Amino acid sequence: MKSWKQQTEFVNDAAHELRTPLTIIQGKLEYMLTKPNKTIIDEAEAISVSLDEVNRLNSLTNNLLVLARSDSATTQSNFELTTPDFFLKDPIEPFKDIINSQSKVFQINLLHKPVLNLDRDKIKQLLIILLDNATKYTPQNGTIKIYDQIEGSKYQFIISDTGVGVADNDKKKIFGRFYRVDKSRNTNSGGHGLGLAIAKQIVELHHGNIFVRDNLPHGSEFVVELPIKRNH
Ligand code: ADP
Repeated sequence: MKSWKQQTEFVNDAAHELRTPLTIIQGKLEYMLTKPNKTIIDEAEAISVSLDEVNRLNSLTNNLLVLARSDSATTQSNFELTTPDFFLKDPIEPFKDIINSQSKVFQINLLHKPVLNLDRDKIKQLLIILLDNATKYTPQNGTIKIYDQIEGSKYQFIISDTGVGVADNDKKKIFGRFYRVDKSRNTNSGGHGLGLAIAKQIVELHHGNIFVRDNLPHGSEFVVELPIKRNH
């Protein structure tokens, strides 16, 4: 009953999220049809707004597909033995330029080399979600950092930022589907509240754990904990 209720809720929320951009695009197209003699330049604003909405729809449907496929276990996983040099350093490389170009600082402090059994593509997707959020929710001149540590038989990598932070009441909820802390604030950043739900799903597939804690004096730290296969 619980999982049926969750599915219904998911479909409801998804339909709701799809409806908003569709309504905007429909409105703009209908408006343009009432002005058949105008040129593309005249209607550049309506076209560009529609295109933004199409882009949002694209990323939303991609995310919905990722979640749905994973729910029904139809995605193939590609597990292999690997070390943080490969599964962390390579995917974070492009973020150096992206973060610096936004006048933010990116610090990398990865020291450990345990062997883990994981799907590198999925971990890359997880890193992109977390680094993208850290960048999105941190103002200019802020600092985004990735560092690692070993806790017993677990390897942890931590993405910390000096951004807006997450209130205690939201720390668990943000990993839920479609959950956004402040909807109005996030409309501009274009998210649908699915990123962290996908991140959680990826970590669970790896029998790991993900949680958020405060980064003092401000900002947040997203901790990803994965089981170590063997230590060097
Ligand atoms: P979104 O697409 O809205 O970013 P996510 O699932 O990735 O969706 O994140 C859910 C919510 O968690 C965000 O809307 C935001 O309120 C909060 N959040 C995520 N990452 C951070 C962060 N690094 N700092 C502050 N808040 C964050």
